[in-house]
Amino acid sequence: MPIQLEEYMSRETFERIRTFSDDKETPFLVIDTATIIDRLEKLITAFPYASIYYAVKANPAIEILTMLRDKNVNFDIASVYELDRVLSLGISPDKISYGNTIKKSKDVRYFYQKGVRMFATDSEADIRNIARAAPGSKIYVRILSEGTLTADWPLSRKFGCQADMAMDLIILAKDLGLIPYGISFHVGSQQRDIGAWDAAIGKVKVIFERLQEEDGIELKMINLGGGFPANYITKANDLSTYAQEITRFLKEGFGENLPQIILEPGRSIMGDAGVLVSEVVLISRKSRTALNRWIYTDVGKFSGLIETLGEAIKYPLFTGKKGEVEEVIIAGPTCDSADILYEDYKYKLPLNLAISDRIYWLSTGAYTNTYSAIEFNGFPPLKSYFI
Ligand SMILES: *Cc1c(COP(=O)(O)O)cnc(C)c1O
Repeated sequence: MPIQLEEYMSRETFERIRTFSDDKETPFLVIDTATIIDRLEKLITAFPYASIYYAVKANPAIEILTMLRDKNVNFDIASVYELDRVLSLGISPDKISYGNTIKKSKDVRYFYQKGVRMFATDSEADIRNIARAAPGSKIYVRILSEGTLTADWPLSRKFGCQADMAMDLIILAKDLGLIPYGISFHVGSQQRDIGAWDAAIGKVKVIFERLQEEDGIELKMINLGGGFPANYITKANDLSTYAQEITRFLKEGFGENLPQIILEPGRSIMGDAGVLVSEVVLISRKSRTALNRWIYTDVGKFSGLIETLGEAIKYPLFTGKKGEVEEVIIAGPTCDSADILYEDYKYKLPLNLAISDRIYWLSTGAYTNTYSAIEFNGFPPLKSYFI
C-alpha cells in the first residue's frame, strides 16, 4: 500500500506546502509552523503539570526558537553555540538547562557567566568541573535507561550512569556545594514502548527514597527526557496514551504531590511539521530481469536523512501519483554507496513514477536540516522555508 496522506497531514496543509513549493528548486525542507504550535499545545494539554524544555538540537532554526520563546517554553541546550543563539533571541538564562553531560570545563564556565544555573551530569569528573566552574548551581543526574530495542533512535548507552552511581554523585554534588536538584533519563528517541518510562520512573523512585532516608537529601525534580513520538510509517501510540500511562506511573510512584516534572521534547513537536521536497534524479534496473527498480532522489544520507541509517526512521513518502505500485530501492544522489536510504524495507511507489517527478518526504521536521553536510560532492546544505 502506498501511504494515505491524511494519516500524516491534512490535504489542505499539504496543498499549501505544494503550492508554496512548486516554483522552487529541490531539495528543500518546508516547515509548517502551525503544526509545531499544534503539537506543542497538545503536549501541554496532555501534561498540564510539566515544564517543557525544548531540545534545541531537533531543529534549531531561529524562526522556530522565536516561536517557542513567544510560547514561553524553556530550552534544553547542548553547546555554547546553541546557547548563544538562544540568548541572542532575548531568552532568559533561567529558562535554560545545560543538558549535555559531555562538556568542557570552559563551556561550563561560559554557561555560568551567561547566567545558566541548571546542569545535567552523569560522572564524577563532570560534577567536579561544574562545582569549580559553576559554583552553587543546580545539578540533576542522568541515569541509564533500557528500552533501546523499542526506540527507533536510541539515545541511552552513551549517556547516564547506574542508579547506585547516581546516588553517589548526588551526595558528592552536595558535598561540593552544588544543589542536588533531581534525576533525569531519556528512554530513547521515538520510543514506542511506553513501559520504558515505567521502568525508569521506578528507578528514580528508589533513588529519591534512599537519598531521603539515608542521607537526608530531598530531590525536587524528575526530568522525563524526550522520546515522545512523531508520526512515521512504524506506528506509535497517540500522545494522549503516552500521557495517561506516564501520569499513572508517576502517581503510583510519587502520589498526588509530584516533584517538579520536566519534559524535553524534540521530535514530537518538530517531526510532523516538516515536508522535505525532493525530485527523482534517475530510475534504473540493475539487470534485465531485476525485480526492483532503483529510485535515486536528490536527497540522501548527506542532505539531512541521517536517521535512515540502519533504516531506523521510515519517513512516509508521498508522490501524488495514482495507479499500480511496486517495491523499490531508494538511494541518494552522492557518490558514496552508504547513501542508500531504504533497501531492506521496500517502499511501494507508483510504477508510473518517472525521472523529475517530485517525492514529498513527510514528517521530516526533526533531525534533518542540521544533519545535512555542507558540501559533500559539492551539494549545498539543505535549505529550509517556514510557512
Ligand atoms: C535529543 C534529546 C532530547 C530530545 O529527544 P526527542 O526524542 O527528540 O524528543 C531530549 N533530551 C536530551 C537530553 C536529548 O539529548
